[in-house]
Amino acid sequence: MNKTEDRVVWVAKDDAMKDQTINGIHHITAIAGSTQKNVRFYTEILGLRLVKRTINFDSPDTWHLYYGDETGSPASVITFFPFRGVTRGKTGNRSLSNTLYSVGDSSLEFWMSRLKTYQVEYRGPFARFDEKYITFEDFDGLQIELVANSMDKRTGWRTPGIPAKHSIKGFFSAVLSYGSAEKTLDFLINQLEHQVLEQTPERIRLFSGDNKPGNYIDLLSRPSVPGHTPGSGQVHHLAFQVPDEQKQEAFKQKLEQNGVFTSRVMDRQYFKSIYFREPGGVLFELATSGPGFLKDESLENLGTALKLPPWLETDRQSIEANLDAF
Ligand code: ZN
Repeated sequence: MNKTEDRVVWVAKDDAMKDQTINGIHHITAIAGSTQKNVRFYTEILGLRLVKRTINFDSPDTWHLYYGDETGSPASVITFFPFRGVTRGKTGNRSLSNTLYSVGDSSLEFWMSRLKTYQVEYRGPFARFDEKYITFEDFDGLQIELVANSMDKRTGWRTPGIPAKHSIKGFFSAVLSYGSAEKTLDFLINQLEHQVLEQTPERIRLFSGDNKPGNYIDLLSRPSVPGHTPGSGQVHHLAFQVPDEQKQEAFKQKLEQNGVFTSRVMDRQYFKSIYFREPGGVLFELATSGPGFLKDESLENLGTALKLPPWLETDRQSIEANLDAF
């Protein structure tokens, strides 16, 4: 292999692409305990659409459930592996500690009353930068915030009991917490095309692609907070969106040239993925925008049937028999 030539090709590609090849969050994946409670929380209470029911390709007796907007657009999708009997994790540093969803600027009252109805304890509203927000946890302790803002033009999924103007629009930001966020800040800026938007002594907000909800990452520096403990209620990884496989490959080469070990490209059916650990310890993924969740189901039937990748289709019967009903 001609290394010089490889490098020339890479530089040419890099120049041609220039910025804007990472376009915000693609999805967030977390660990859950009870499947039933997980489904209830995200569909019934938060009003997200279950857009795909498949399994953990690396552990076929475990569901992989995807919740998002009508089509499961990038930056709307949270996914869960409900592991039977998993112990509850503990929130802390070196993790994606808070998942922030975006709602309309007059929607917090509605959500406070809805959470009360479902006996989900919340705190707030609080103020930060130019936004108001409330915080609460899902049934496994995953830390969620609803951030009210007027700049988000996305529409959420329609669920009985949630007027369209109050529905969750998708992610606002993901909060990554560390003792010191310095190395991750450098990594996001220099390897993953992020720019700093605003900051306080404790929090730095960055964005990739356009400056809009769904494209934000908040970095927290909390020197006195211990590291998190993995388990249910904890995030497993954070995926950023890249437009296509070519750009994904360009990132893979760039990361490897800079000494970051990256996984091979994995076929996740609805997107292609590479994984790597950022210097602060959180697992990152770069996922392609397509083909998306309409690949194997119609819009109206999204999320209604167990979908398996072709290589597991022959085991369908035994796989189905081992999954928790919900
Ligand atoms: Zn993922």
